[in-house]
Amino acid sequence: MSFTRLNAFGMNKAHITPENLFLPMSQPLLSLKTDPTQPTIVVSVGVTSFGALEIPMIAGPCSVESYEQLQEVAAVLKRLGISCLRGGAFKPRTSPYSFQGHGQQALEWLGAIRQEYGLSVISEVMSIAQIAQAEPYLDCYQVGSRNMQNFDLLKALGQQPKPVLLKRGFAATLDEFLHAAEYILMGGIAPVILCERGIRGFDSRTRNVLDLGSVAWLKENTHLPVVVDPSHATGKATLVPPAAKASVAVGADGLMLEVHPEPLAALSDADQALSLEALVKLHTELHPVAEAIGRAIANPTLLPV
Ligand code: PEP
Ligand code: MN
Repeated sequence: MSFTRLNAFGMNKAHITPENLFLPMSQPLLSLKTDPTQPTIVVSVGVTSFGALEIPMIAGPCSVESYEQLQEVAAVLKRLGISCLRGGAFKPRTSPYSFQGHGQQALEWLGAIRQEYGLSVISEVMSIAQIAQAEPYLDCYQVGSRNMQNFDLLKALGQQPKPVLLKRGFAATLDEFLHAAEYILMGGIAPVILCERGIRGFDSRTRNVLDLGSVAWLKENTHLPVVVDPSHATGKATLVPPAAKASVAVGADGLMLEVHPEPLAALSDADQALSLEALVKLHTELHPVAEAIGRAIANPTLLPV
């Protein structure tokens, strides 16, 4: 009896060749490893690298609220050697009555901080029009959980060169997640970073279910860097540090953390925001976890302030 080696999608690996990419197949191709030893590709986001042995952090407020707020955060990031700032200018809020983000003004604040502090900047876009609008101010586009299957947005992002951090839809299977990544990769220009941010479960003590198994599976089967967002996964600041440590231990290539100088006053996601002091503490505690798996927490030398 002979056995045929199937990949994770039940497809014979022999089928994944450049010659048959044109075949009408529904299986993801561009995001999958063609051989199990293929290393993770390194994606550069401004001064930050994702997918290398060193694990970078992305930290910043859920919503950009003011220039001063970003300055306070950026100063701490610089001190810790965290090179990537996040901050929402356009917010995908469940309720239309909730704060929707400062839009263009927030982009300008992000752009100014990026210049002043030499940080990489990542921010979410929700529509095709926002791609060009945000382009001058950021190094990486974020596609949020709610837009993971906004196919026109994904296709448009695939036609431009900046990297895209694609968050997993909160009800998306891993197959659907990778197919969404393929929409961007098909354009042949923009690199993709995957982000596990928790999926919906039946419990309400945590905001979502942090799917750590998915991180291990993605690392095993794709060559894309995988970042974990323990903030949206848990929804509670005290749960973020343990979830962040577990994420590093399971093989995450980066962490995205929501932080705020005054968490209780945050205009969005106040419950899950780490204070700047909590960020410093977590950063210290992550080093031995990374070392235990033969990696390190990235600590780049940044441009002087
Ligand atoms: C965010 O990062 O601010 C956000 C809205 O995340 P998600 O799309 O994962 O809910
Ligand atoms: Mn948020």
